[in-house]
Amino acid sequence: MQPLNANDHSKIANVYNELHAAGNHALGNPAKPSQAAKPTHTAKPSHAAGQVSRRDALRAVGLVAGAAAIGSYAMPRGASARSMTQPVADLLTSPTEPAEPAGFYRFKVGSFDCVALSDGVAVSSGSPQPTFAPDADKADIDKLLSDRYLPMDRSTMYFHTLLIDTGETVVLIDTGCGDLTGPATGKVEANLRAAGYTPEAITHIVITHAHLDHIGGLLTPGKAKRYANARLIVSRTEHDFWTSPTPDLSGLRMPDDTKKFFATLGKSTFETFKDSLDLIQPGDKILPGFEFIDAKGHTPGHMSLLITDGNDVVFNLADCAHHFLLMFARPEYSAIYDADPTQAVATRRKVFDRIAADRLNVVGYHMPSPGFGNIRRIAGGYEWLPRPWGL
Ligand SMILES: [Zn+2]
Repeated sequence: MQPLNANDHSKIANVYNELHAAGNHALGNPAKPSQAAKPTHTAKPSHAAGQVSRRDALRAVGLVAGAAAIGSYAMPRGASARSMTQPVADLLTSPTEPAEPAGFYRFKVGSFDCVALSDGVAVSSGSPQPTFAPDADKADIDKLLSDRYLPMDRSTMYFHTLLIDTGETVVLIDTGCGDLTGPATGKVEANLRAAGYTPEAITHIVITHAHLDHIGGLLTPGKAKRYANARLIVSRTEHDFWTSPTPDLSGLRMPDDTKKFFATLGKSTFETFKDSLDLIQPGDKILPGFEFIDAKGHTPGHMSLLITDGNDVVFNLADCAHHFLLMFARPEYSAIYDADPTQAVATRRKVFDRIAADRLNVVGYHMPSPGFGNIRRIAGGYEWLPRPWGL
């Protein structure tokens, strides 16, 4: 197995249209004051004293000032009251809070504690087209964007993993980009800790598919296993595709070098975790409350999930859509990342129809932060409706 090298990493820039650092991710923290810390998921500061720059420290001052303005509503689970009120001078020398606003969003599914964890926000300098719709008429894309007051010369990509604490298990769905795509992303662990969990608390990781923005966070920058106690749940089809001698990537509309990078990363990841894998088929019942749904097309073994407790549900869209406007208004458009564009479109329509008909709440990996919304049918397509916080 060829290890990934710096040159490989530089090719990632092509995949995301030369993504630029997106700056602070101000997703906020809607944790309720009544939520008590769980002793088994003790929060730790993500930056130890002496390991942050002065700029980080100054950011921390801004964070605390903002938190003070809205009171305990913004206090992360596990954060101490003192850390919210200690003098500015103290913070400059020994910050105890994350240097950026916490990127997580809590909600409940029945009795399950759920947290959408941002991996970051990445902005590219070009039009969303052709990345999100290589076959589309650019004038149509520009009009769609303009009608929604969105820029035509800039494109934003969001990344959200989802943590589900059932009381028996702590399940993480996908892991973010890790250190593969630069400083705008790779924030899942920091946000997980800010939400009051440690990587060691994760018992299962569902890999919806083996693309770099979903598996990159499995390893630390030092190439250690980040979630040491977790079993990995992945579709057998997905595993077999990436570990085959020659996975068919002809449907991806990407440079050959980028395809090669995807293939190498998928294969090496499954090799690294071969002793931790639970290979399943959609429909298998491996975790109570989790329905694994065949969503093939984006990749051969791509899965969505329906998470249920009692009468409460949330649908995890995974990568059935990559853009909150274009793939809803024009569901026939397909991203350059889709291995089988025709099947990806068919799957998207099927999934959207089910969500709309059953009026399901949705978490979308690539939907705008915090990734929580609903989908309804409109003339000619669908509409993504961001769900207001706190409902
Ligand atoms: Zn993705």
